[in-house]
Amino acid sequence: MTSTGQEPSLFSRIAAREIPATIVAETDRIIAFEDIAPQAPVHVVITTRTQQYRNVVELAAGDPGLLAELVAVAAGIAAERSNGQFRLVFNTGQAAGQTVFHVHAHLLAQPGPGSPAGDDSLGEGSLAFR
Ligand code: 5GP
Repeated sequence: MTSTGQEPSLFSRIAAREIPATIVAETDRIIAFEDIAPQAPVHVVITTRTQQYRNVVELAAGDPGLLAELVAVAAGIAAERSNGQFRLVFNTGQAAGQTVFHVHAHLLAQPGPGSPAGDDSLGEGSLAFR
């Protein structure tokens, strides 16, 4: 149970290392890991350690600084793993494809020019996501 009496979400359990994942970045308040079912060559889930916010609308209203931190972490990962150009997708609501109701962003990008599969282009439709 969390301090709010909720069962830990899937992403809280990943953050607690109860469920294995490839962790990409961590701060005091943010954790990022590779998506188990990647939809793009670089597909990283970036989430808050707190599961207090179910979606980006709640996070923006409740803690805009934490949302800004999440975006900054995304930009840092994109700079490291890609060419700094990326899509950031927040599925919001079941009908929009959200399955985990613990706020998170999907960072979708092409691999960086230096990587083996590197392709510096971000062509139209090259990052199709659902
Ligand atoms: P949503 O559909 O809520 O926007 O995104 C949830 C994401 O979590 C999906 O892209 C899904 O592939 C990913 N996911 C679900 N279960 C796991 C898991 O156990 N490990 C990891 N790394 N990702 C997961």
